[in-house]
Amino acid sequence: MTKRDPRYDVLFEPVKIGPVTAKNRFYQVPHCTGLGWLRPRMVAALRGMKAEGGWGVVCTEYCSIHPASDDLPHPYASLWDRGDIKAHALMTEQVHAHGALAGAELWVGGSRTANLFTNEVAMDVTSRPNAVGIPYQTRAMDKSDIRELRRWHRDAALRARTAGFDIVYIYATHGYLLSHFLSSRTNTRTDEYGGSLENRVRLVRELIEETKDAVGDNCAVAVRFSADAGGEGDGDPIIGEHREMLEILAELPDLWDININDYSREMGVSRFIKEASLEAYMSYVKSITSKPVVSVGRFTSPDTMVSQVNRGIVDFIGAARPSIADPFLPKKIEEGRLDEIRECIGCNNCYVGDSKATPIRCTQNPTIGEEWRRGWHPEKIAEKGSDSTVLVVGAGPAGLEATRALGLRGYHVLLAEAEHSLGGRVTRESSLPGLSEWARVRNYRVHAIQSMPNVEIYLDNRMEADDVLAMEANHIVIATGASWLADGRGLFHETALTGFGPSTHIFTPDDIMAGHLPEGPTLIYDDDHYYMASVIAELLRARQIPVTLVTPKTRVSAWGEMTSEQMRIQRRLLGVGVQVITANSLTAFDGREAQIQCIYTGNQRSIEVESVVSVTMRQPNDSLFLEIQQRIESGTGFVPDSLSRIGDCEAPSIIAGAVFAGHRYARELDTEVDPDNRIKYDRVFFEDG
Ligand code: ADP
Ligand code: SF4
Repeated sequence: MTKRDPRYDVLFEPVKIGPVTAKNRFYQVPHCTGLGWLRPRMVAALRGMKAEGGWGVVCTEYCSIHPASDDLPHPYASLWDRGDIKAHALMTEQVHAHGALAGAELWVGGSRTANLFTNEVAMDVTSRPNAVGIPYQTRAMDKSDIRELRRWHRDAALRARTAGFDIVYIYATHGYLLSHFLSSRTNTRTDEYGGSLENRVRLVRELIEETKDAVGDNCAVAVRFSADAGGEGDGDPIIGEHREMLEILAELPDLWDININDYSREMGVSRFIKEASLEAYMSYVKSITSKPVVSVGRFTSPDTMVSQVNRGIVDFIGAARPSIADPFLPKKIEEGRLDEIRECIGCNNCYVGDSKATPIRCTQNPTIGEEWRRGWHPEKIAEKGSDSTVLVVGAGPAGLEATRALGLRGYHVLLAEAEHSLGGRVTRESSLPGLSEWARVRNYRVHAIQSMPNVEIYLDNRMEADDVLAMEANHIVIATGASWLADGRGLFHETALTGFGPSTHIFTPDDIMAGHLPEGPTLIYDDDHYYMASVIAELLRARQIPVTLVTPKTRVSAWGEMTSEQMRIQRRLLGVGVQVITANSLTAFDGREAQIQCIYTGNQRSIEVESVVSVTMRQPNDSLFLEIQQRIESGTGFVPDSLSRIGDCEAPSIIAGAVFAGHRYARELDTEVDPDNRIKYDRVFFEDG
């Protein structure tokens, strides 16, 4: 094992947090998994894997203290009863088994929750509209509600201790109940919990003191707090009263977990927000408190981490996404294996799990969430099950990941790629505006396979069926991707548009990525609703091309809501002068004029444009697969043990889908898989009460 670079020693110093001590400075801050109370064994194995990977502290997701704080359909964690204690004990046992501390983020939703599961009336500092648009209002908390809340919080802290947690949180940010008590905008009460700054911090102060009193002998008490008061856009940080509040509370908790008001910056996508972007907001915090401070910044570079600690910005390197993309990030730094770090690309597909209330997935780490139900370990994989040779055709994310994982298993792998470079769509898309970090998906895998003697790479090799069969590989896996359609067919138009031409004036994302750009005023038709149309709009605007973006949805890049980037995308497009027309479909184009139609009224209008970029749907490049399949079925030539297709050539998807498909193929080769039941189902299995 290589030794770690002494430059990074500081990251491995133990740090005392009140009555407990973290073994190092790597701190997995609370993050959602889409698993929560619904899938306790999956979540326990996921958190345990972080601890195995070297994180000194591993926290839960937001953890409800009482049924009056319920966020269904999102599967938050909960600490309501004995059943929850048992469920969380699964996690704390696994975290402790690797010498890490376990933290519970106790949470009260306030007006961000409507209690659609428990049907309790939601409460907040005043009667307020539900913050996520559910047509309910909260009840204004009276004094007895506040007393009850304090009791619930104390009881939940005791349950957290019983479940084995070492750190218990007071969660006072992110627009949840306690942040509304703090803010002069939302707290208009006239009693001792409203008005002056001292009054507004009263509840948070009481909760800190009461949590310390309840569990402080054994557990550290942490406060999650915003360093700033928010403000417009990305200008200079507006700290507002938050510095004063921190000064009042500075020495009360054992640890400060600091983030910022703007969630789309705090966990911003790499297209808009780069590593360590919170520093300008929270760099004053350590001058106010002697207690350890943790903050995040999508840290993947150990040099940046060391710089943060040495310059006194933080004591702990907080991470959600970097710990999802690589649960073994600390171990790899410790063992001097920096080039093996699987760096987060900042795409926020992990956040979709929370947004859609579904199990977490990650573009870089296909094993996240699969630790228990599929038994997948991010760093370990079974040895090969035979001496077979596997031919992988296509080196996009699906083919590269299949090759990497098959190579690790020890198979003899032949990887054939038509182009001169590896990476497929990742290579193409990472050259689009803002997406350069996405190249990490390729780089990590290419680096891994280049040193594998059992992997042979053939570039500039466009394979025909004859070529593939002539190689006589035992297993053939086709990963030839997909191509964008140019006929307007997609989600809105189920058939190709008639009156759509001439073809020399119609472009697809594939054309744009190949460097074929339109000339003159251009209409981008977005019926894909993710990032592609918007990055093309940015690219064309950078070349001074007038752009009108038309979409049948009511917002640009509607899916970007799930990855917390929709607002920033629309703001960016409006800022660079894109004319945005929503709720309209494209119905015709003749090279001079495009016809568009309102989805509500059916009213038509024309727009003068010379070119159209059609961003609608993709067609699987499956002709090679189908031809080989047909040859095999006819029994006229070489017959391999198996023929498969994976990734976009099977069913076009996001990059995470292709990586997952490649990984699954490699894991399952030569294993017994029940095709009707590939996964174990986690269920709520504890008795009530
Ligand atoms: P995925 O996302 O499923 O991995 P990509 O489109 O990113 O798909 O990658 C597919 C890769 O397959 C591309 O790099 C493309 O050049 C390559 N490819 C397509 N057809 C062939 C072929 N017949 N022979 C070899 N490589 C091919
Ligand atoms: Fe990072 Fe994307 Fe993985 Fe989330 S899904 S951890 S943003 S690579």
